[in-house]
Amino acid sequence: EAKRQGRGRAVAYQPGMLEVVTERHRLEDDLREAIETQAFHLAYQPVVDLKTGEPLGYEALIRWTHPVRGAVSPVAFVPLAEENGQIVAIGRWVLMEACRAAAAWPNGRHVAVNVSPVQLRSPLFLSHVTAALAESGLAPCRLEVELTETAMVESGTQIADALGALRILGIRIAMDDFGTGYSSLAHLRDFPLDRIKIDRSFVAAAETDRHSMAVLRAVTQIGRDIGIPTLAEGVETPSQWELLKALGCDAGQGYLFGRPERLDTAAAATAPLAAAG
Ligand code: C2E
Ligand code: MG
Ligand code: MG
Ligand code: MG
Repeated sequence: EAKRQGRGRAVAYQPGMLEVVTERHRLEDDLREAIETQAFHLAYQPVVDLKTGEPLGYEALIRWTHPVRGAVSPVAFVPLAEENGQIVAIGRWVLMEACRAAAAWPNGRHVAVNVSPVQLRSPLFLSHVTAALAESGLAPCRLEVELTETAMVESGTQIADALGALRILGIRIAMDDFGTGYSSLAHLRDFPLDRIKIDRSFVAAAETDRHSMAVLRAVTQIGRDIGIPTLAEGVETPSQWELLKALGCDAGQGYLFGRPERLDTAAAATAPLAAAG
């Protein structure tokens, strides 16, 4: 429907371009309203100890139910929200919501929150983090911030300062999607990290592609040598679990252990894992 209107208006002049622009503005308006109308929720995916399959914590993943379009993937709207700065307000909501949920979980379990480089650069970011911790009562060590390498590439002092401040607060820092983007081993040396999350593309290909296998082996080895736990993303099969265990990878995440799901706090506290191993 929205698409048809956009096309109708655009016929007279460069249809494709105008369609994209109106589409974008519409999404921006809808995003602006989404926090107020409670159109976002968080789905939580277990992060498990690969030795036992027991949950160590959960990653919070944002979900948007658009009034007309239905579910819109974060892959579609997070980049837009980063470009226009809306990610700062959205991220503030995510932090608050995730910390509130995690405060009710058993004590050892952490919540991992994805943070965009745009948020990290915002002068408001640290106050959003401290407010979420203070209002939820969550111990800082139970909050883990996930950053992609892109954030680290754009290093600069703002990012370094923000990371240092998180560190001082006792918040953990994970490098997300390691091995993709602007990978550089220097990031492992230059940034204080608490976890390396190896991108799921390596896990998916490991059994058929020896290059992917070599990367998995090397990264888990480096993690061991420098004392940073490794986590494999996208574990979908028991044989991938076995393989990663054999490589000495510490933690895993993936459909085998649990899909991202809306969790009420009671469920999070007791949720048994379906996977056997
Ligand atoms: P990510 O942080 O790397 O999150 C992992 C993604 O892999 C999630 O996609 C998850 O649903 C998916 N996944 C988990 N296990 C499996 C598996 O076994 N197989 C496959 N094929 N996929 C699996 P999702 O939820 O669509 O999120 C996509 C990306 O959007 C995230 O990647 C993250 O970069 C971003 N994102 C999600 N929530 C937030 C948020 O609150 N703030 C920000 N800034 N970014 C977010
Ligand atoms: Mg992540
Ligand atoms: Mg990831
Ligand atoms: Mg990923």
